[in-house]
Amino acid sequence: MLDLKQVTVNYGNFSAVQQAEISVEKGEIVVLLGANGAGKSTTFQAISGLVKPSEGEILFKGNQISGKSPDKIVQMGIVQCAEDRKLFPQMSVEQNLIMGAYVHRKNRKLIKQTLREVYDLFPILYDKRGEFAGSLSGGQQQMLAIGRALMAKPDLMLLDEPSIGLAPLIVEQMFESIQHINKEGTTILLAEQNANAALSIADKGYVYENGRIVVEGKSEELFANE
Ligand code: ADP
Ligand code: ADP
Repeated sequence: MLDLKQVTVNYGNFSAVQQAEISVEKGEIVVLLGANGAGKSTTFQAISGLVKPSEGEILFKGNQISGKSPDKIVQMGIVQCAEDRKLFPQMSVEQNLIMGAYVHRKNRKLIKQTLREVYDLFPILYDKRGEFAGSLSGGQQQMLAIGRALMAKPDLMLLDEPSIGLAPLIVEQMFESIQHINKEGTTILLAEQNANAALSIADKGYVYENGRIVVEGKSEELFANE
């Protein structure tokens, strides 16, 4: 579904990502691991069109997407849920969700149906649908950010550090929800520093060090190498 071929992203003469080779098959959960600053977010930004690779190709369902605009990439079926969430704190939970459906904004029936799916997945969002997004706890805001990304009905969801700043118990629930989203048919590429939790739900992983992928393999193999 997604193939990065020799992708390099330079900032001036600094390479944030060097010759990344990543392949994500339809239906998989794939995780990018590595310390802060290793190049995971930059890889996501390259996929979602926020930065242009200096070298290499990014193919999505066989089409070159490298250099396309972020809007175009969303329309093609890739939605990113950023680490900083970018919610609208002064808008209600439901308004935030509906913003996520702008890709298919003309189809009210589809929006309603998708809203129901998101509320089934995260019942707490239904309970809080009329409240300001800014009034939610960290874990609830993360659910809202993921719910909003789902509103676009993506084929591929990019999740940047979904567990960051969450209490351990909530982290477990978050990974269960991600697994559920995947089972419902969304392919997932995830970036995490929380390696064990991420590997427990992932099919395979790539480990970054200073912009380079130094290890890759199936989750079981990476677990063993921990
Ligand atoms: P990670 O997501 O793994 O924490 P990043 O992709 O955010 O890593 O960062 C990789 C490296 O690129 C870091 O050294 C970071 O400081 C640098 N970097 C990220 N964005 C920029 C930018 N816009 N300009 C210059 N350097 C950047
Ligand atoms: P992340 O690891 O998720 O990228 P950061 O705090 O490193 O989080 O980056 C936040 C934002 O600042 C990102 O948009 C990133 O591109 C930008 N950034 C990070 N490092 C640098 C840098 N050295 N110079 C300029 N922008 C940077």
